[in-house]
Amino acid sequence: MGVQLFVRSVRGVRRVSKSSPTIEGAGVRLKRAFGPAEVHLLDPFLLLDDFHSGDPDDYVAGFPWHPHRGMETVTYLIRGVVEHEDSTGNKGVINSGDVQWMTAGSGILHHEMPKEYKGLMQGFQLWVNLPASRKMMSPRYRDVKMEQIPVVSVNGDAKAKIIAGQIDGVKGPVKDLVVEVEYLDVSILPNKEFKHSVTRGNNAFAYVFEGGGSFDQQRANTVKAEHLVIFTDGDEVKVKADESGVRFLLVSGKPIAEPVAWGGPIVMNTREELDIAFAELQKGEFIRSR
Ligand code: FE
Repeated sequence: MGVQLFVRSVRGVRRVSKSSPTIEGAGVRLKRAFGPAEVHLLDPFLLLDDFHSGDPDDYVAGFPWHPHRGMETVTYLIRGVVEHEDSTGNKGVINSGDVQWMTAGSGILHHEMPKEYKGLMQGFQLWVNLPASRKMMSPRYRDVKMEQIPVVSVNGDAKAKIIAGQIDGVKGPVKDLVVEVEYLDVSILPNKEFKHSVTRGNNAFAYVFEGGGSFDQQRANTVKAEHLVIFTDGDEVKVKADESGVRFLLVSGKPIAEPVAWGGPIVMNTREELDIAFAELQKGEFIRSR
């Protein structure tokens, strides 16, 4: 009888980069981990912003009323308070540990205002693209409270908050997504290892925000906070924490593989669709459904 070998390949590191200081909204100082230049590497993801600061002057100006169309914004607040309100009538507060998964679809106008917070305020906003067939879907929200996000222990060496996706059959609260996305917040104890299956063919990245660790098999390089790791393809990722432990976002998604026409907060497939969107904004005809 023959012996069949199933070799699961571990993803390597395609690129490591440091996030760069950027000013957004009405003057919020943040760090951009990736953006338009990385779309070809990270499709379906468009952008990741890391906002963390102990100085309210860096963030209280916030993101006053602005539009989105053709994409999703995923806001994950590690600590802090963000008030929001939008054209669908949705209004509320994102608190420490909460997630807001907003599908702009055909169009939404909203404002996102971080409130003064004692100590370090920290959060992330990820943009996920939508395929042509769903860019004009009705807007929808998933407001997820911290208590709804399961935390699982992985071999006692690591713990992971599952926002979307699954570990050992435990599923995150954000389901039925338009584009298949897994979103985890992983903490590994000092010098311990974590491995996790990631669907082959999906693009994957890790964004380190505490401590450091190695994300390649050779363990040649320690990746520290404020750095993005873009993985090569494969069946799983393996991460080893350094002596300080490491915490990172681990996000993967199925590529959409369509042309991207990007106009600030509006992301469509063609230049013409962008022109229509901006013309509609000017005429006050941007919002299709409330
Ligand atoms: Fe926004």
